[in-house]
Amino acid sequence: MEKKRGKLLVIGFGPGAFEQITDRARRAIEESEVIIGYNTYVDLIRGLLTTQEIVRTGMTEEVSRAQEAVRQAEMGRTVAVISSGDAGVYGMAGLIYEVLMEKKWHPDEGVEVEVIPGISSINSCAALLGAPIMHDACTISLSDHLTPWDTIAKRVEAAAATDFVIALYNPRSGRRTRQIAETQRILLGHRSPDTPVGLVKSAYRDRQQIVLTTLADMLEHEIGMLTTVIIGNSSTVVYDGLMITPRGYQRKYTLNSEEQRLRPSERLQVAAEPWSLSAKEQAGASGEAKSVQPDFPAPASYSASSSSPLEAAMEALQILEAKGIVSGGYAGSAPSAVANPSTLSAAVNPNALFEVGVAPGIANKKFTARQMALLAEIAGEQGEMEYTPHHQIILRIPGGDPERVVAELKAEKLLVFPIGDVAQIKACDFCNLEKDGSIPVAEELNRVIGGLKTPKELKIGFNGCGMACYGAVLEDIGIVYRKGAYDLFLGGKTIGRNAHPAQPAAEGIAADQIVDTVERIFREYTDKAFPGERFHKFFKRVGTVAGFRHEEQPAVAVADAVCGD
Ligand code: SF4
Repeated sequence: MEKKRGKLLVIGFGPGAFEQITDRARRAIEESEVIIGYNTYVDLIRGLLTTQEIVRTGMTEEVSRAQEAVRQAEMGRTVAVISSGDAGVYGMAGLIYEVLMEKKWHPDEGVEVEVIPGISSINSCAALLGAPIMHDACTISLSDHLTPWDTIAKRVEAAAATDFVIALYNPRSGRRTRQIAETQRILLGHRSPDTPVGLVKSAYRDRQQIVLTTLADMLEHEIGMLTTVIIGNSSTVVYDGLMITPRGYQRKYTLNSEEQRLRPSERLQVAAEPWSLSAKEQAGASGEAKSVQPDFPAPASYSASSSSPLEAAMEALQILEAKGIVSGGYAGSAPSAVANPSTLSAAVNPNALFEVGVAPGIANKKFTARQMALLAEIAGEQGEMEYTPHHQIILRIPGGDPERVVAELKAEKLLVFPIGDVAQIKACDFCNLEKDGSIPVAEELNRVIGGLKTPKELKIGFNGCGMACYGAVLEDIGIVYRKGAYDLFLGGKTIGRNAHPAQPAAEGIAADQIVDTVERIFREYTDKAFPGERFHKFFKRVGTVAGFRHEEQPAVAVADAVCGD
């Protein structure tokens, strides 16, 4: 009689709750003659077992489990090897195949193998937290029993640097306590301390616990063998107790409106995806810009080589500076921008949009009639001019030619600025230019750092007397000219319920030192801040900037608003 062919069913049964086990996994358990698994796993599925023979082992006996499973299957039996989560994610599937390969097994001969997928922790824990892995994500096990710690640390570093959402498996055990702390240290080198972090213990089991915290505070909570740690990326937000990572739809869709600017037929065109590989290839092949961002309701980016409005504007200004059309120190401000003049040819696509900040001067706030007429002419019927609280007009021009536009603005003696995450000098009007003693310093400061790229928009208030009536003392950096010298304020926060003035940092800084001083502060901020970290948070985190020490503001009791939200 021909010997019955044995079968190995490598089953992932998910987090543990019966309703989370797939139908195929349940049937595979039913049809098995032998169940082989770690003690806890056998206990978790005990309610599904009937007459199966059970082989249970301790936690570190995976190899003997795999060998025993293969041995029993080679005897012609149907053997289930069970793992929680997914058998192919830190489970038993790989080890079973390794044992078989050692035996020169071939899929068409010998025992039959079926790997049955289950819900892995990254999925079950994400579902409990909200939707944190909506974008590129990875799993990293912090167990260094089988993987050298140096390799794990490199993987954490790489995932952190490339903005992956990260699910940490095996974060801590009784003996492995330092790995999670070291991982946090590495992550903080790349991500904001405020990055949302979800801790899920025993997902879908009796003692399930869910904690939402931050990268800075995560170690203050219980983390153990049964915890999965999910670290958000730079876009992840917390909304009403949920951890959510945007997929990126807001680039193309107006999420708060039923009316979409892009028709369905336009959404998958290269023109609507200037960040795509196709757009870059087209730009490279033709040597022309595919500066094709459609006119989104929000400020959009405007060249194929730029991934943000800021980069597009910086790119434009760098190129024009290189050509001598504008000045202002933009050349070193966005090293990643591609200095290819052809990418500025927004006119190649009528949907392209160019966006730039315009002002009549650093101190001068008065536009001439000719300047206003020029702005109106450049904006045309399709463009728009937005007057901002920061004494600029933002000009948005669909189908505009940035090179020509900037040249025309400069010819009419207008200053042009990139907008977005850049340093902006917000000077007062020096009493209609009458208190003019410090205007050259304000202009020099703008020449040195105005428009340069920053981790987050950086407002530098500059007021021409101690009245400080333009609110310099509220800004990220405040400078007040008083008695022939300059007072310096650092770390203001102008918006939000916890808005607060900047901290007085120094008085009487000499005229020949103030620009250097602010430049040092600026350099330290741009060198050391996390992406997206506002200056006041950075100042508080690092404690000292350019020799100026941060001081805690007095605690303020916040009561519910009397009216409004
Ligand atoms: S801060 Fe002083 S110089 Fe500037 S506008 Fe106000 S009063 Fe005039």
